[in-house]
Amino acid sequence: AKLDGRGTYRFFEPEMDARMQARRRLELDMRQALARREFQLHYQPQLQLDEDRLIGCEALIRWKHPERGMISPLDFIPLAEEIGLIVPIGEWVVRQACRDAMTWPAGMSVAVNVSPAQFKSDRLVETIISALASSGLAARRLEVEITEGVLLEESEKTLQTLHRLRELGVRVSMDDFGTGYSSLSYLRSFPFDKIKIDRSFVKDLTGKPDGDAIIRAIAGLGKSLGMTTVAEGVETPEQMQRIRDEGCTDVQGYLISRPIPADDVLAFLKTYGSP
Ligand code: C2E
Ligand code: CA
Ligand code: CA
Ligand code: CA
Repeated sequence: AKLDGRGTYRFFEPEMDARMQARRRLELDMRQALARREFQLHYQPQLQLDEDRLIGCEALIRWKHPERGMISPLDFIPLAEEIGLIVPIGEWVVRQACRDAMTWPAGMSVAVNVSPAQFKSDRLVETIISALASSGLAARRLEVEITEGVLLEESEKTLQTLHRLRELGVRVSMDDFGTGYSSLSYLRSFPFDKIKIDRSFVKDLTGKPDGDAIIRAIAGLGKSLGMTTVAEGVETPEQMQRIRDEGCTDVQGYLISRPIPADDVLAFLKTYGSP
C-alpha cells in the first residue's frame, strides 16, 4: 500500500495487482498440477573422469503446463517452497526418481534435489524409506542434493536428518558449493559424500592461473576430506580438460548431455556406453 497525494492509502496499484494475479494463477494451477500429472522428471547424466563412465543422473523437475508449455523449475520451485507445496511435489520427485532408476543398470545412481522447506518437513526421511521400499531401489543408489539454504540454521534437527539419511545408506551431496557465505564451515559439520562445484566457477575457467585456482582448491579439499567433487555446467572440451587437470573426479554439463526426458535415458546410456 502506498500513501497517495490526499493522504489515503491506495491498495491496488495496477502493476502490483497484475503481478499478484499472475502469482495467484500460478499457485492455483500448481495446486492441481500433481493430480493432473503435469510434472515430469528430466535426467542429466554425470560422468566419472577416472574410469570415463557414466555413474548416475540428476533428476530435474519440469512442469508441462497445459497452456504455457514447459515451465522451468526456476519459475515455480521458489513459489512452491513459499506456499508449502514443495513437500508433496518433492515427495513425488523422490518416488518417481526411485522408480525410474530401477530401470537403469545397477551401477547408475539417481540424485534428487531437496529444498529447505522439504528438508525441514517431518516427512522427508519416511518418504525416502517408503520410496526405496516400494521401488526396490538400493539406498546407495539414491543421492540427496542439498544447498546451503538447508544448513543456514544449523539446528540439531538438520544434522539429525542428515545422519539418518546416511545411516540408511543414502548419499548426501552439497549442491552449488562456493556460492554461499559459509560453504566451508558446512563441510566441517557434516561429512558429505559429494561436493558439487557451482557452474559459475566452471565458467571462470580461463586457463589463467587464478581462474583455475578455486576449482583446484575445492578439488584438493574434496580429496583430503574423502569427498567426490563434481564440476557442474561443463560445456566445452576445454573446460573438461581443465576440470580433469585440476583434479575434480566427476563432471556434469551440456558437453556430456543436456537433461533428457526419462524415456530417453536408456537409449542415451546405450549410445554413450554405460557401466
Ligand atoms: P541445480 O540443482 O543447480 O541444477 C543444475 C541446473 O543447471 C539445471 O537447471 C541444469 O539444466 C543446468 N545445467 C546443467 N548443465 C548445464 C550446462 O552445461 N550449462 C548450463 N548453462 N546449464 C546447465 P534446471 O533444470 O533449470 O534447474 C534449475 C534449478 O531448479 C536446479 O539447480 C535446482 O535448484 C532446482 N530444481 C530442479 N529440479 C528440482 C526438484 O526436483 N526439486 C527441487 N527442490 N529443486 C529442483
Ligand atoms: Ca542440484
Ligand atoms: Ca547445482
Ligand atoms: Ca543452482
